This record gives sequence, structure tokens and C-alpha cells, in this order.
Amino acid sequence: MVIIRKIKELRKRLNKLRLKNKTVGFVPTMGALHEGHLSLIRKARRENDIAVVSIFVNPAQFGPKEDLRRYPRNLKRDSDLCGKEGVDFIFYPDANEMYPSHYMTYVFVSDLSKVLCGSFRPGHFQGVATIVTKLFNIVSPDIAYFGQKDAQQAIIIKKLACDLNMPVKIKIMPTIRERGSLALSSRNVYLSDRERQDALVLPQALSLARSLIRKGEDEAAFVINEMKRLIRKKETARIDYVSIVDTQFFKPVKKIKGKCLIALAVWIGKTRLIDNMLVQY
Ligand code: AMP
Repeated sequence: MVIIRKIKELRKRLNKLRLKNKTVGFVPTMGALHEGHLSLIRKARRENDIAVVSIFVNPAQFGPKEDLRRYPRNLKRDSDLCGKEGVDFIFYPDANEMYPSHYMTYVFVSDLSKVLCGSFRPGHFQGVATIVTKLFNIVSPDIAYFGQKDAQQAIIIKKLACDLNMPVKIKIMPTIRERGSLALSSRNVYLSDRERQDALVLPQALSLARSLIRKGEDEAAFVINEMKRLIRKKETARIDYVSIVDTQFFKPVKKIKGKCLIALAVWIGKTRLIDNMLVQY
């Protein structure tokens, strides 16, 4: 496995391999790798000749008051994990390599970026869409892998790849959870023991929604209220949103029928956590 910091160098290496008809699978990450990331990496490894992982804490997707500086970074541990999984290349650029001075160009997937997390994190999805577009242009993957955990991000990336006619297949992989419960996230390291207990209320709220719907409840407002009631019982929890939306435009639904996304973002203390569940009725 090779760690490459320069765009030119990665392009040169990948071009050579592509001339030999090798396929490229790509997993973009911000590092601090956990089993969620590794599930994407393993899939990329299995399905392609070459597996590329990028590790880049993208400043463009953090708001001025967010955790860019504090975000966990550990290249040694990440590269050991990637090595064990048989990754061929880690792309590890610095901020200047990706955004040299006088950088001006941004990608914005309009309506999908303004709702759900987008309304609480202005500019976030523009930052995500921009870095993913740049990474796709650098790596030219055949298949790129994203997690359902970040459902809005995954759908935005599918849309941008389609709208901009990018020759890449996007695969969305299931959320990996701690013992079937709390979704794995690099940000979970911020949680104290007490907060980690309280954070279980996110998956619990989703299970509550699932059981209400299974019992025949189809009023979105009722399900959302019950979820909020449960979450508010935790002292450290503060809700950004609990929403039930369609999966194409993220428009709130009144009745739960067909395919819907139940998504929530909740602060546990000073840590903002997200989770979601697809339902089909
Ligand atoms: P991040 O490093 O947080 O930007 O995540 C990189 C990729 O890993 C994204 O496509 C995420 O959706 C995915 N990912 C993060 N956490 C999980 C998880 N618990 N299960 C599956 N995929 C995940």
C-alpha cells in the first residue's frame, strides 16, 4: 500500500493501471476509520482490481463554529487498518493541495442541500459536493462507495454524479452499528460515558418509529411527535430535527406510505449525531 499526497502522482499511478484495464473502487473518508468505513473499504476491495481510500478532513464542509480543528486525526492507525484490508492507495492530500490560494469553484446540488442537515449546517453540502467532485475528477473511479449513515450526503452525491454525467457508479452501503444500536461515527469519540448512554436514544427513536408503523400508524406527525417525546427524556439531548421525507426530493410526507426516509439529528451535549432509517410500506 502506498500513501500519496500529490494529485499528479496519484493520477500518474492510476492512469498506468487503467491502461492495463484495471478497475478502480474508491472510498472517500475524513479518516479516524472505524468498522463503518471498513465495510465500504472491504466492498471496494472485493469488487475492483484497485482500491483507493482518500483521507481528507475537508475544511469546506465545516461551518466556522464547527469541529474542524478538533476532528480526530490519526494517519498511522488509519494506514495500518487500510493496509490490513488490502487497500492499494491512500490519497492523503493537504488542504493546500485541494484548495490552493485563489480557489473559486464550488458545486451545489440545489434543493437537496437546503433541507434536513442542510438547514442547520449552511454550506455543508456545498463543501461535500465540491470535494467529492474534485476527488472523482482526480481518482476517476469506476465505483465509489458511501454509507447510508449519511443518507442525505449519499443521495446528493448520486444526484450530482447523474446531473454532471460523471462516469461513476455510486453504491450506498448499510449503516454499521455498535452491537446493533448506536451508528458508528468518528464523532462518537467526543462522547462521555453518560453521553454515550444517552446517544442510544437515536436508534431507540428509530426503533420506536418502526414499531409504530408496523402496528399500522401512518400519520408522519404522530410518529415524529412520539420520537421527539422519547428523545426529550434524555437530559443531554437537544433535537435539531426529526423528519419523515420522500427519498427523492426530501419533501416531508404526511402519510407514511411507499418509500420514506426517517432522519434525525440530535445534539448529545456538544456532539451532533445523525441517524436514519428507510421504511417501505
Ligand atoms: P466520513 O469519514 O465520516 O466522511 O465517512 C466516510 C464514509 O463512510 C461516508 O460515505 C460515510 O457515510 C461512511 N460511514 C460513516 N459511518 C458509517 C457507518 N456507521 N456505517 C456505514 N458507513 C459509514
